[in-house]
Amino acid sequence: MFRKSSSCPNCGNIGKLHKSHSRNFLERIVNHSYIWATFRCHNCGWRGILMRKGGFKVSLLGVIKTFILLSIVYYIVVYLIKNYTK
Ligand SMILES: [Zn+2]
Repeated sequence: MFRKSSSCPNCGNIGKLHKSHSRNFLERIVNHSYIWATFRCHNCGWRGILMRKGGFKVSLLGVIKTFILLSIVYYIVVYLIKNYTK
C-alpha cells in the first residue's frame, strides 16, 4: 500500500502523477486526511486515491483534523441511517 515512487498504477509512468482536486465529499475527506490524496496521471488520465508522497505526514494538527473529519462523517452517517430507516 505504501508507495515510495510516484509511478502511475495504470500505465507505470514515473513523475506523471499530480495531485487532483477533490470532486466530491469523499475525496475532500481523503484530501484532508494527511495520509491519502487523490492523484491524476497526466500520461494516461488515471485518477484515484494513493498514499501521499513521503508517506505519513505525522503532525498533531493533522491527526486532530482527521479525527474531527471522521467524527463529522460518523455523525452524518448515523443521522442519515436514523432518518432513512424509519
Ligand atoms: Zn498513467
